[in-house]
Amino acid sequence: MSLQNPKVGFVSLGCPKALVDSERILTQLKVEGYDLVPTYDDADVVVVNTCGFIDSAVAESLDAIGEAMAENGKVIVTGCLGKRPDEIRAAHPGVLSISGPQDYASVMNAVHDVLPPKHDPFIDLVPAPRRLGDGFIEGVGIKLTPKHYAYLKISEGCNHRCSFCIIPSMRGDLVSRPVDDVLREAERLVRGGVKELLVVSQDTSAYGVDLKYAEREWRGKAYQTRMKALCEGLGELGVWSRLHYVYPYPHVDDVIPLMAEGKVLPYLDIPFQHASPRILKLMKRPGAVDKTLERIQNWRSIAPDITLRSTFIVGFPGETEAEFEELLDFLDEAQLDRVGAFAYSPVEGAAANALPDAVPEEVKQERLARFMERQSEISEAKLAAKVGSVQRCLVDALDGDLAIARSMADAPEIDGLVQIQNGFEAGLKVGEFVDVEIMGSDEHDLYGEVAFDD
Ligand code: SF4
Repeated sequence: MSLQNPKVGFVSLGCPKALVDSERILTQLKVEGYDLVPTYDDADVVVVNTCGFIDSAVAESLDAIGEAMAENGKVIVTGCLGKRPDEIRAAHPGVLSISGPQDYASVMNAVHDVLPPKHDPFIDLVPAPRRLGDGFIEGVGIKLTPKHYAYLKISEGCNHRCSFCIIPSMRGDLVSRPVDDVLREAERLVRGGVKELLVVSQDTSAYGVDLKYAEREWRGKAYQTRMKALCEGLGELGVWSRLHYVYPYPHVDDVIPLMAEGKVLPYLDIPFQHASPRILKLMKRPGAVDKTLERIQNWRSIAPDITLRSTFIVGFPGETEAEFEELLDFLDEAQLDRVGAFAYSPVEGAAANALPDAVPEEVKQERLARFMERQSEISEAKLAAKVGSVQRCLVDALDGDLAIARSMADAPEIDGLVQIQNGFEAGLKVGEFVDVEIMGSDEHDLYGEVAFDD
């Protein structure tokens, strides 16, 4: 019998939800004694966790599978694109196994088939250290994010049927994790050094509806499996908690006071997708745009520092110039801090593809450019207004004299950064909170220096 542990290579593609799936599979592999290796050459088998959301993601996933096939030859495919096995087999007939998202058991079975685990009772009995170089946290498992922040997945799937989206057909209906389970994981993460929890799901505001908001106990207190109660629990942990993918339901308003109280970050990632009631109806999304603007005003009156991030689709089938301009007007009125925008892309299997009056590609691109131009002026002005203020920041990295940090308004990967000019001199460390005096800004980022108390 070989003395070496069996070796698995892993390629993780897609969104934070897919990243959490990767973390779970990697944790299981580690627990069963597999070594995780960074190169194709060293791996006995390669697992590719794919994304299948839009055409470019499908192409990237198929390329990644192709590369793993060419470089290694033993490839197990999982993730969202796994819901379309014919497409994968047509491009790469030699893959060993294909499974869909969250199907951890199928991935492990496929790994066992090609590479049985090496049982070692001595190693199995050694307790896992709190943090190893590979991101293992005791009681949690492997984390692919830096040590000081982590994604906290509260549910899988989605009960909505937005006409442009195929996620429910890939990931199924909403399945929430009971609140005590989530809070215990959050607690373990914080114990392991995490300073910022990023709550992710497909639909954070629907959290718990499938469990009828079941009440559970955590730290001797009852909490409902519901967004607001989850936020109250997270507020007990003394770290930053940031809410992502918050569908604009009315009850979102309930968490704004918790943001004002500092229980969770005053940050809402809330996809509005459009501002024309007719287009929103075609998208099968809530269409009361006047109410949305009223609500935004109300949120700002309760939590003046709230950062609003949203995403929009331009060039949706049937979108007229006038409807697109409604969207631009909405941007002017809403004054959102951060915005992501996409030109409509007909995802295979999406109901919206059957809608009439597709917008020509060049019009979509032209609208996208106009949209981004309008929003970048808004974002730039919002950042400029922070010059002269002091912002609490979390240090992500050190780079020569600089420390690269994020303020409460900046989620990792998608938002801006705060460059701290005297970061080295101030002796900052990665994962440390620091107050920064903001001295400059541009379209995305802020610049400043550590604010010392005199
Ligand atoms: S709420 Fe989000 S995940 Fe659910 S169907 Fe709509 S776009 Fe897709």
